Amino acid sequence: MSEIYDLAIIGAGPAGMAAALYASRSGLKTCMIESGAPGGKLLKTYHIENYPGVKGVGGAELATNMLDQALEFGTEYIAGEVVKVDEDKTLHLADGSTIKAQCVLLATGTKERMLNIPGEKENVGKGVSFCAVCDGAFFRGKDIVVIGGGNSALEESVFLTQFARKIYIVIRRDEFRAEKKFQREVEENDKIEVIKESVPVEVLSDGKVTGIVIQNVKTQEKQTIECSGIFPYVGSDPISDCVKDLGVCNDHGYVKVDRNMETKIDGLFAAGDVVDKQLPQVVTAVGDGALVAQQAFKKVKEK
Ligand code: NAP
Repeated sequence: MSEIYDLAIIGAGPAGMAAALYASRSGLKTCMIESGAPGGKLLKTYHIENYPGVKGVGGAELATNMLDQALEFGTEYIAGEVVKVDEDKTLHLADGSTIKAQCVLLATGTKERMLNIPGEKENVGKGVSFCAVCDGAFFRGKDIVVIGGGNSALEESVFLTQFARKIYIVIRRDEFRAEKKFQREVEENDKIEVIKESVPVEVLSDGKVTGIVIQNVKTQEKQTIECSGIFPYVGSDPISDCVKDLGVCNDHGYVKVDRNMETKIDGLFAAGDVVDKQLPQVVTAVGDGALVAQQAFKKVKEK
């Protein structure tokens, strides 16, 4: 353990990258640790049209720009997985190394929830996918089933229509959770058929996905839909295992913070989708990140 960072950021999604930009620009010795590719959920988002000042931009392009900007101001990028955070702000990485910081930001986001039905796990990568942007092109001319009625399910279904022959959206209630704008886009698209009040029961496969069995929640009647692709978009869960022993999470694993994005532990912050919040979006994540950088700056200078 050779050096102590002013701010160590765990996760290089929009929240982490905004914090990195603000912190390094204000002169804090900042590092950002990421176990996957930098960008977080942005990498799985084809098109963003609700980020103020940017009329339309690809998620990957926005991620690249955010990262470049943060690195330009001196943030150190570290590829690695943080498995545990101690109360004294020591980070333990999967490779056995440690990083020490005065302030720590958890900006790890969320991971997609699985359906947990027979046939799903073993067919991930063989027709079951959680990323339309990454895998949509594999289903050119094929039939796809999307599970879920939230913004993600509807937005990605519309995206998938450029490849698929037909898309079935299966929702468990008789109404969507998604915003009206996405509902309208789905209604207006001839390639999309909505099946209501039904839940997935089993993924069928012969080595690759061949279909899905769904069940009507009222009549209990089962139906098989033949398809090559299944995209579950049934929400997500926070990635907060590395702080679970610190007592900073709620019952669902989201991190509890005050209005300055600080947990009950002095100098331990959280930002973005891993936080218990009303509006998990890019625009709120970057706001969180910027605020954390400012708070970290104050703490470091006070010390
Ligand atoms: P979500 O809003 O939680 O929607 C999850 C959907 O999956 C709901 O329709 C839910 O049904 C359904 N569902 C959950 N568990 C299920 C199960 N076991 N079987 C079948 N269906 C199940 O999740 P999300 O769409 O991933 O969105 C997450 C957050 O990101 C939201 O706040 C959303 O607004 C935001 N987001 C915003 C944008 C945008 O603004 N462009 C795009 C994507 C996401 P019920 O409705 O019956 O519970």
